[in-house]
Amino acid sequence: MVLKQKEIDTWQEKLPLLKRIIDLDPVVWLNDDRRKMSVMPTMPLKMQDIKEAEQLWHRFAPFLMKAFPETNGVIESPVQKGQNLKSELDNYFSSAVDGELYLKCDNELPIAGSIKARGGIYEVLHHAESLAIDAGLITKQDNYERFASNRFKAFFKNYSIGVGSTGNLGLSIGIISAALGFSVTVYMSRDAKQWKKDLLRKKGVTVQEFAGDFSEAIYAGRLKTNENPKGYFVDDEDSKHLFLGYSVAAIRLQKQLEEQKIQIDENHPLFVYLPCGVGGSPGGITFGLKQVFGDHVHCFFVEPTHSPSVLIGLLTGEMERISVQDFGIDNHTEADGLAVGRPSRFATGISKHLLSGIYTVRDEQLFKILALLYDNEKIYVEPSAAAGIIGPWNVMHSNYLKQSNIHTENITHIAWLTGGGLVPEAEMKQFYGKGKRLIKKEGE
Ligand SMILES: *Cc1c(COP(=O)(O)O)cnc(C)c1O
Repeated sequence: MVLKQKEIDTWQEKLPLLKRIIDLDPVVWLNDDRRKMSVMPTMPLKMQDIKEAEQLWHRFAPFLMKAFPETNGVIESPVQKGQNLKSELDNYFSSAVDGELYLKCDNELPIAGSIKARGGIYEVLHHAESLAIDAGLITKQDNYERFASNRFKAFFKNYSIGVGSTGNLGLSIGIISAALGFSVTVYMSRDAKQWKKDLLRKKGVTVQEFAGDFSEAIYAGRLKTNENPKGYFVDDEDSKHLFLGYSVAAIRLQKQLEEQKIQIDENHPLFVYLPCGVGGSPGGITFGLKQVFGDHVHCFFVEPTHSPSVLIGLLTGEMERISVQDFGIDNHTEADGLAVGRPSRFATGISKHLLSGIYTVRDEQLFKILALLYDNEKIYVEPSAAAGIIGPWNVMHSNYLKQSNIHTENITHIAWLTGGGLVPEAEMKQFYGKGKRLIKKEGE
């Protein structure tokens, strides 16, 4: 459904920012709906749900240790200081921002090499546990190493799992489902990279390719999977379990910041910049961080100028009922993890009360930042994952600080590096080379 020009004009009159979004200009939008903590009790989830999700991860630690020894039983990533990168970018943008820059390296997450390891693996483990308990195969007190046994694999073989994906969610769901023994099918959208399909097929996953975009892949996958009474569809457009899996990151991050003696309080605010597709991973993490740090944390989402799905959903108030294509925006971006035209219903309903704002970024900018990240910190990420890095420079120059009365000297900025761990070296070199060429051209 593309809106008629007259309807688009009416929206634009009401919302002046919309014109710049449709023109594909990078924008910074501040969320006026952001509420203080008093709204929390009405949320569909609570801190207790996050704690229970963390306990599920604990129960599965022996399984993870057995099936994926490289995890040591825990799927977590390091936080590190990005001091060289910060100096470089202060220079590059000719403006030094206050505070320190840290990088949350989800590109190093084991098994899936992206933030999808948090939500995707959590949802599949949750489903596997429910099936095994219902069948009387296990109780929550038992040692979950048994999930790696042939007996369990034979049991799960009768059940199927489906997922629609632009790539990374498919990798995470596909790899963990196949390891447990499920029959798993990944419905891939047109943006999905060839190497991701090849890798999944090698792991025994069925890959169905679609000419359409992410929403179409989800739609087809949902229909097909639900035809089977023993089928389970991981629905990125509306999943509470994905959301909870992501939210656990907040309690882990709290502990890491404590260990590094990084204080977060009224005079030491935390700013977090999260690349956003359907809004599930940034939404879950924002929800968790708000539970942990309350008003002292400020979360910003980042979307490509060609795929501002959550931005348009929130700005118009139409949420998942409207897509970027409705406004004539093409949803074509090299940031394949963010190539989403329509926001998640579940996640966006929560985020709208909590997030501070959204900014958009051009693809060329992502490649340049990706190259600068490697040059200064020796970290390789995929284009989607570079989106959070420019957050401090974007947000510090907006009206946000004035509106919120924030002391800037002590800010801890965290750019969430959301993926890139499994990208083949040749592909990564191409990303890097492209970034370097763009930077050089700019200097001429
Ligand atoms: C999926 C993904 C995101 C965004 O997560 P959503 O839940 O879709 O908002 C960000 N970065 C990467 C690398 C991803 O794969």
